[in-house]
Amino acid sequence: MVVKIDRKKCMYCGACVSVCPRVALNLKETWVDVNEKCIDCGICVKLCPVGAISLKERKK
Ligand code: SF4
Ligand code: SF4
Repeated sequence: MVVKIDRKKCMYCGACVSVCPRVALNLKETWVDVNEKCIDCGICVKLCPVGAISLKERKK
């Protein structure tokens, strides 16, 4: 699985960034970046107030 962030929905509240146990999320100027430390725990997905984060099947 891989974390996907819908840039159109995201309002850059930063909530996902502070909750991630792996510090895999980073608030950039115009988007939220997910790095390779992500363990697909899904915490950020549940936390996002606007539902901008989803877990997608990782493409091979
Ligand atoms: S799924 Fe878990 S590890 Fe990955 S970015 Fe979200 S909170 Fe962080
Ligand atoms: S919690 Fe959702 S709206 Fe807030 S910064 Fe993260 S992805 Fe964007």
